[in-house]
Parts: sequence; C-alpha cells; structure tokens
Amino acid sequence: MPVRRSLPGRDRHLVGAWCFADTYGPLGAGASPGMRVPPHPHTGLHTVSWLLGGEILHRDSLGTTCRVRPGELNLMTAGHGISHSEYSTGAQASGLHGAQLWIVQPEAERDGPPCFEHHGTLPSFTRPGATVTVLLGALDGVVSPARTATELVGAELDLAAGTRLRLPLRRDFEHAVLALDKPVTAEGHEIPTGSMLYLPPERETLTVHTADGNRALLIGGVPFEERFVMWWNFLARDHGGIATAREDWESGGTRFGTVPAQDAGLSAPPLPGVRLRSRGRRRAQP
Ligand code: MN
Repeated sequence: MPVRRSLPGRDRHLVGAWCFADTYGPLGAGASPGMRVPPHPHTGLHTVSWLLGGEILHRDSLGTTCRVRPGELNLMTAGHGISHSEYSTGAQASGLHGAQLWIVQPEAERDGPPCFEHHGTLPSFTRPGATVTVLLGALDGVVSPARTATELVGAELDLAAGTRLRLPLRRDFEHAVLALDKPVTAEGHEIPTGSMLYLPPERETLTVHTADGNRALLIGGVPFEERFVMWWNFLARDHGGIATAREDWESGGTRFGTVPAQDAGLSAPPLPGVRLRSRGRRRAQP
C-alpha cells in the first residue's frame, strides 16, 4: 500500500512532540489488499490512528481488539513496550484512507505502562463551511478527552469548497498543516496532498483556504526539548535503549507480550553499524 511520509523530513523531525506522520489512500476498488501489518513492537511513543475512509482492526498485547472508523480515534501508548497488529477489514479495503501519527513520550513517562484508548466520538465545532474535530489537546476552547503527557493539539479540518477558515493558535506552540485530500492553502502557501506546512511559534491565528474542498490535519505543540533516538518502531533515550528493545523483541521474551493473530510477527531489521544519533533540540554535551 503506497504511503506518503510527511514527518520526519530532511529538515524537520518534530512538530511539538509529534515525531512521525504517514498518510495513505484513498484506495480504489480492488487495487490493493489494503493495510496488512503483522504484530510488531513499539516503545516510548503514542500512536494515533485517524481514518478518513474504510475500517482497520487493531489488536494488541494488552488483549485489545478494536475497530477504528472515520471520526474515531485509536490512541496507543507504548511506554516500556507493547506489540500490535493492524489490518484493514473486508476483502478489498476499497476506500481505505487515513493517517498514522506518532508522538514522543517524554523521559518521565517513556518507561511507563502501555495502554490503549479508543474514542468513538470526539468534540467538534463548526464555522461557515468548516467542521473542526479535536483529536488531541484543545483548539478554540474545545477539549479532546484523549490524554497525552505533553501539551499539544491535533485536529481535523473538514472544509467545503471555497471555505476560508481562521483559527486561533497558541503562541507557545509550533504547528503544521497536512493536506489530506486535495491541496489546501495555509497562510498563503499551497500545500500539496500529503505534504506539510510548518509554522513556527509566536503565531496567533491560522488562515486556511480551499478551492475544491479538503480535509487537513492541524498538529502542534510546545517545542519538544528532550533528546531521544528513534529507529524502526522504537523510541528510546539513546542507542543502547534501542539495541536492548530490539534484542527483547527478537528474543521473544515477555517485554512486548503477544498479539492474538494468525500471522507471525515482523522481524526487526539489523541495527546499522554505527551508533544511532539522538535528535531533539537540546544541545549535545561537549
Ligand atoms: Mn505500529
């Protein structure tokens, strides 16, 4: 299934604590078997599953079995370790369309217990030509029930053709706008589908405009200062934390539990022959 990676990019690997964003679909009829991701592990991050079309079945090592559909949020917290699988439902998966995003867990929570939340309904508000659904955090006073450790926002902007929408932003947040369906114009810049426009802090409003109608994601948060290492599906403090997580997954021990599924789990790729560099804004110790 073709996937567009919007984050990390060559020049930017964080927006607030958001560290990863993929978009996929919409799949045509019979074009693809859809999403088929066998059991695999995560550490130190939240995964956010958000669909625009289709349906995905999530299973995890906590014993969760949960479908996610458009308008619903699956928020998984990996902490010390979790494993999960994701499969689109139905034989054809036609119409599958969505986004998968990750959020860094801060040092204080990174080794905590894993958990899983499903939110079947999320708060939203309307403006002329627009419906704004708040997935995470708060926007214009509307607060999501989903919880993360860092101050951030995630919202879907569903815009009818010809809409111009102005939203208040928090000045201490940096933000990005991701075009999901069709190009959208934000602050005068046209954003191609699957691409992201970054907006630094100190901004009080965001103006988006769409000629054809579009759904876009707004993500943002307080700039994340801690350093961390991200490799494959793991996020850790340093190279050693990644190497240990990889060994723990490959050895099939108890750290990542087991996912009730028919398929065998994914194997981690070999670590590169160099130490993984940490990312983040805090300057490395001399
Ligand atoms: Mn995953």
